[in-house]
Amino acid sequence: MELIALPAFADNLIWMLHDGHQAFVVDPGAAAPVANALHERGLRLAAILVTHHHNDHVGGLAELAPLLHGPVYGPAHERMPVAVQPMSQGSRFELLGTQIEVIDVPGHTAGHIAYVVRAPAQAPWLFCGDTLFSGGCGRLFEGTPTQMLDSLDKLAALPGDTRVCCAHEYTLSNLRFARTVEPRNTALADYETHCKALRAEGAWTLPSTIATERAVNPFLRAREPDVVASALARGAPSQAATEVFATLREWKNTF
Ligand SMILES: [Zn+2]
Ligand SMILES: [Zn+2]
Repeated sequence: MELIALPAFADNLIWMLHDGHQAFVVDPGAAAPVANALHERGLRLAAILVTHHHNDHVGGLAELAPLLHGPVYGPAHERMPVAVQPMSQGSRFELLGTQIEVIDVPGHTAGHIAYVVRAPAQAPWLFCGDTLFSGGCGRLFEGTPTQMLDSLDKLAALPGDTRVCCAHEYTLSNLRFARTVEPRNTALADYETHCKALRAEGAWTLPSTIATERAVNPFLRAREPDVVASALARGAPSQAATEVFATLREWKNTF
């Protein structure tokens, strides 16, 4: 399977996985980038996967319907603009020879889901929408810090080589914040240098990997002493992971 990132709007990435003949896409907020990619490569659209209800993730669904030769998979507990196969924690299905498993990741929205896609002899792909970003995480529009931390902990427990396909290229701005939280983290400093070079060439920083995120992402590191110390200095009421996480999330909102 080959992964392609299709840019949309200011900073969305619509992910496409294809086998040379058939493709599926994740979170098509716009139809044109998907239609163009299918046409250019002579691919048939076999399915669409959706992580949550925000318009920059579902806005292209109606327009793609005539091109679609299979189901739309979407969150069981969110209102969708088209009929979907309802997915929730533990749902599994097969698509283009891959095995797909669904994880509930509430926090950014109440019914947000993520998809782990496994193909023989390839590292897994994680499509996590607006839950986990490289170096950051989504804003809490409909969930609590406890829910989001639990969701991120589930994603952090995936194999380290899992490729993290986030729905937005927010990496550099996330890393500026991460460096403020953890100025002594050398893996983070190296990763920021690497990502700046990629962006300077016009390349995406994504996908990242779970191993990288565990090493650099402060929202996955709420139990690390340096992150705890920064959160306490910022006013966290205790070093409990949820308090540290909530303090980081509030801090980032105004950073
Ligand atoms: Zn969103
Ligand atoms: Zn989004």
